[in-house]
Amino acid sequence: MAKNPPHPGMLLIISGPSGVGKTTITHEVEKALNGVFSVSMTTRPRAAGDREGVDYHFVDQSEFDRARNADELLEWAEVYPGCSYGTPRRPVEEALREGKLMILEIDVAGAEQVKRKMHDIFAVFVLPPSEEVLLERLRKRKREEEAVIQRRFSKALSEIVRAMECGVYNEFIVNDDLGKAVEKVVQLVTRELHLRAARR
Ligand code: 5GP
Repeated sequence: MAKNPPHPGMLLIISGPSGVGKTTITHEVEKALNGVFSVSMTTRPRAAGDREGVDYHFVDQSEFDRARNADELLEWAEVYPGCSYGTPRRPVEEALREGKLMILEIDVAGAEQVKRKMHDIFAVFVLPPSEEVLLERLRKRKREEEAVIQRRFSKALSEIVRAMECGVYNEFIVNDDLGKAVEKVVQLVTRELHLRAARR
């Protein structure tokens, strides 16, 4: 038997509408708490700046369907019409076995599936300060054309309502200042890690 059994890991989910700054928050939390970022599989087209295997595993629909049918995904969702995203199961299981903090940046539909499979998750939802600010941030990214921005905006609003009603999220934080939002999430996750360690 191992002399120092590994600590049970923790699965952290960070969700929030697009444009809310959750990717930055996720990576800052990963750095601050030595976490492992889950690299999702997606069928969405690769955009400029996207790094294969770092930001996402970019695959075509047939590879996505194969992985899904082979039960290689812990959860998956068609986040936008024709664009599916899923969490590869194996890296999550490995990280948790090794007692690491595994971080999933996924949408609400995905978080609901994970919650059903593993109730021991800790989930944080990042909110924009207001609808106006969210729309402004989506436009400022200059990543998509206006029609796509409008689709992302209306999806964002329904996502917020669903997050509040689904009962999956432990904490809601408002990102009106990125530095403070990062600090807040780090604080909440650290506290949760301590609470769990004390219960062991
Ligand atoms: P983006 O295309 O802007 O990188 O991501 C779009 C949305 O997909 C974000 O809300 C993000 O949280 C979500 N997403 C990314 N990866 C996954 C995943 O593996 N599963 C699910 N369900 N959603 C994901």
